[in-house]
Amino acid sequence: MDAAPAQRVATISRDALQALLDALAENYDVIGPTVRDGAIVYDRITGLADLPAGWTDSQGPGRYRLERRHDDALFGFSVGPQAWKRFLHRPVETLWAMRKGENGVTIESDASAVPKFAFIGVRACELHAIAIQDRVLLEGPYLDTAYATRRQNAFIVAVNCGQAGETCFCVSMKTGPRAQSGFDLALTELLGNDGPRFLVEVGSEAGATILSRVPQRPATDEEIAEAAAIVARTEKQMGRRLETDGIKELLLDNLNHPRWDDVAERCLTCGNCTMVCPTCFCTTVEDHSDLSGMSAERVRKWDSCFTMDFSFIHGGSVRKTPRSRYRQWMTHKLATWIDQFGTSGCVGCGRCITWCPVGIDITVEAAAIRENPQPQGGGQNGHD
Ligand code: SF4
Ligand code: SF4
Repeated sequence: MDAAPAQRVATISRDALQALLDALAENYDVIGPTVRDGAIVYDRITGLADLPAGWTDSQGPGRYRLERRHDDALFGFSVGPQAWKRFLHRPVETLWAMRKGENGVTIESDASAVPKFAFIGVRACELHAIAIQDRVLLEGPYLDTAYATRRQNAFIVAVNCGQAGETCFCVSMKTGPRAQSGFDLALTELLGNDGPRFLVEVGSEAGATILSRVPQRPATDEEIAEAAAIVARTEKQMGRRLETDGIKELLLDNLNHPRWDDVAERCLTCGNCTMVCPTCFCTTVEDHSDLSGMSAERVRKWDSCFTMDFSFIHGGSVRKTPRSRYRQWMTHKLATWIDQFGTSGCVGCGRCITWCPVGIDITVEAAAIRENPQPQGGGQNGHD
């Protein structure tokens, strides 16, 4: 294989993938999937040896296990507990810090230390989730400058899913399993008779430039067909389905449906579903100071609509019950998000199902209301 020029659809070997990671490492912090603490998480990687070769995951409501595959696929798993938002929209962000010294007070911010990330293995649903967070944090009336800097500097290597998890429903949400846009390069891992290799699609000029530094050859028609067959097979494997036709009206017409009481009896209001969700973006702000009064800082942290504090205004919390908090979360995701941002707030990644300790399943809850709708005809403001 020769390096350069980059094809729009090329084939690269595993060694060439290492060359791609090396080229990216010259300018980026390279982040990719790796096995840690019994899960596949996103962390800094230096090479192929850090990827989860030969591992897959088995997922279900409230269940996640790593298992060995029968081959050594590098991307043979579905999404894990972390979303890329932990790098772009960080769980904890120091907005500013104040220090008192001999020369008076100095104010420091984190802004100068923003890294440039290359994300390896971003799935189609996650590309859609990033686009949704872009709409909230970049394209609304208030620009989040920390997010903007990280996002604009990020290089994205997508991976088309070769298998769907039991909790995945990206087909219902029209977000996958094929990466359509929003990437610099997109890989499909081919594991056929000709040995492990990757079909690479170029999605941007930055992608073409990096790929031109990597040994490659034009993809054959057979390889393009093999990649398409992999995505088609994944589409058929979807573990879940969500009927989205009229879902906004369905949910908003059923704010007093008895199913909300049913789910409230199971929901622990732990907030796991909001922490793992790649589109949830809510934060709170805390001010800290030390006892000597020499330093103080303002910190922004992920927050969750499942806490009482989240809706606390003078006089108490607006959403006092688990019923109203679960309903708020689900109706925001699937209904009012559409009014606010023009799309669903759910990309069908299934994380909220897998990581809910009691296995509450957004697709099951929505289906239960659809099966037996009990519209109240308005007059309910959704708070209790
Ligand atoms: S739905 Fe599940 S994950 Fe979400 S708050 Fe309730 S118990 Fe926790
Ligand atoms: S609501 Fe659940 S399935 Fe939808 S994007 Fe969030 S975590 Fe994924």
